[in-house]
Amino acid sequence: MLDSALLTALAEIVGLEHLLTNPYDLDRYSIDALTPGRAYGLPHVFDRMADAVVRPADTSQVSAVVTLACRQGVPVVPYGGGTGLMGGALPVRGGIVVDVKRLNRILDVNPADLTVAAQAGVVLQDLENALAGQGLMPGHDPYSLPIATVGGTISTNSVGYRAGAFGPMGSQVVGLEVVLPSGQALTTRDVPIYSSGPNLNHLFIGSEGAFGIITRATLRVARLPEARRFATAQFRSFDQGFQAVGEFIALGIRPTLLDLTEEDGQVRLHLLFEGFLEGVEASAGRAMLVCQQRGGKDMGEGPTLTYWRDRHASGENYRRTALDQPRQVRWSRRRGRGFDYLHLALPTSKVLEYRRRCDELMSTSGVRVVEYALWSRPELFSMMMVPAYPDRANAQEELGRVVEQVLTLAQDMGGVMEYCHGVGVRLGHLLPREMGVGHDVLRSLKAALDPGNIMNPGKLGL
Ligand SMILES: Cc1cc2nc3c(=O)[nH]c(=O)nc-3n(C[C@H](O)[C@H](O)[C@H](O)COP(=O)(O)OP(=O)(O)OC[C@H]3O[C@@H](n4cnc5c(N)ncnc54)[C@H](O)[C@@H]3O)c2cc1C
Repeated sequence: MLDSALLTALAEIVGLEHLLTNPYDLDRYSIDALTPGRAYGLPHVFDRMADAVVRPADTSQVSAVVTLACRQGVPVVPYGGGTGLMGGALPVRGGIVVDVKRLNRILDVNPADLTVAAQAGVVLQDLENALAGQGLMPGHDPYSLPIATVGGTISTNSVGYRAGAFGPMGSQVVGLEVVLPSGQALTTRDVPIYSSGPNLNHLFIGSEGAFGIITRATLRVARLPEARRFATAQFRSFDQGFQAVGEFIALGIRPTLLDLTEEDGQVRLHLLFEGFLEGVEASAGRAMLVCQQRGGKDMGEGPTLTYWRDRHASGENYRRTALDQPRQVRWSRRRGRGFDYLHLALPTSKVLEYRRRCDELMSTSGVRVVEYALWSRPELFSMMMVPAYPDRANAQEELGRVVEQVLTLAQDMGGVMEYCHGVGVRLGHLLPREMGVGHDVLRSLKAALDPGNIMNPGKLGL
């Protein structure tokens, strides 16, 4: 509970209508897209509710809220679209949830610099629409484009459909404005490369709001492509498709979209090439030749066109059925359908061996894989896992046990347990294991910048 003097001060900063304290609002802001079914052994993370939600209008209001919270030692939790899958936005120690979605202005579209400056609460779809009007497009295009925000996707270093050519959201960041745990605002400069000290943007990319609240970002954008070519190849095995991908990536070919999926016994590679005409023709032609040399069958552009058209369906569906809803509505969507979708990164040379070891491990477990995939590059490997015997009483615990085993196996083989969703509350306990001394460095940085541990406490294993 926050005392009434603090609530009054918060209302003075953001305006009474933007201070929310009723149980309905506290409930819907105390969750994100993590469901209890995937929070194995962690039911308590949903117990704590926010004490208040504020919806600041600009950076100075964010700064005033954080300064106040810092003085009083009250936790603050940054909140964007609330679509994170790891519980990164859960107020596990109570406090003030800071919803940044009123910071929703696109400040400057700059075709000469090929950048856009936007406030952190801008939803990616709105950014894409605004850029299209000027002949430009963003490099980041996740399933959740209709629902996720600029600040949230930087904070999880999200990966999207165009990552093959443009990299993750963090690679789009040129400059940032961030309100630190002290309440001070830090800005970095809007140039892509420099050697005058370390690039502080990286302290905030993928840090899930533990080091500050991003209020503005300057992002790299691209011209709308002169040419576009969709292609599909079908392979007899995942290994064959993997070899083809490895080969054309080694040649230096960078398709915008690269998705190799094995599902229901079928292995398909979806590719999209974008850019200037000659480059697109050359890249598509050579990549498909490599696929055929590796046993791939050219299925034409049709399957990938459909895939591309439907790519935001899950995000749209989430917007209609779950976004901004209280927990019972959000959680009811997958009731009774236990599954997990893991996104691991390993050195390319280890991916197939890792898959084999996972298959071996799961052959004696109550879990099976229904989909294997590579997304955007050969190092990024995904598995969708379900209980083999969903009616068994312990099916979900068994899934949780096996998930932990395959995550730690990826770490033991030199990889990382997650490549795009962050760790939030769900994987925080495994981060020290993965980072080793690096996690001590993270802890020291956190202690220096946030001695009271008020900024999104309990995340990144801190
Ligand atoms: C249907 C669906 C599809 C999805 N598809 C993808 C996908 O294709 N690729 C992918 O990578 N992920 C995907 N996700 C996961 C999710 O969309 C991403 O993790 C996204 O980056 C979260 O953005 P958000 O604005 O919703 O952030 P939130 O969930 O609000 O927050 C995520 C984390 O960032 C912090 N945060 C939020 N805003 C700020 C800020 N301004 N400053 C500092 N910290 C902040 C929060 O505290 C939290 O730790 C999907 C989720 C759903 C539900």
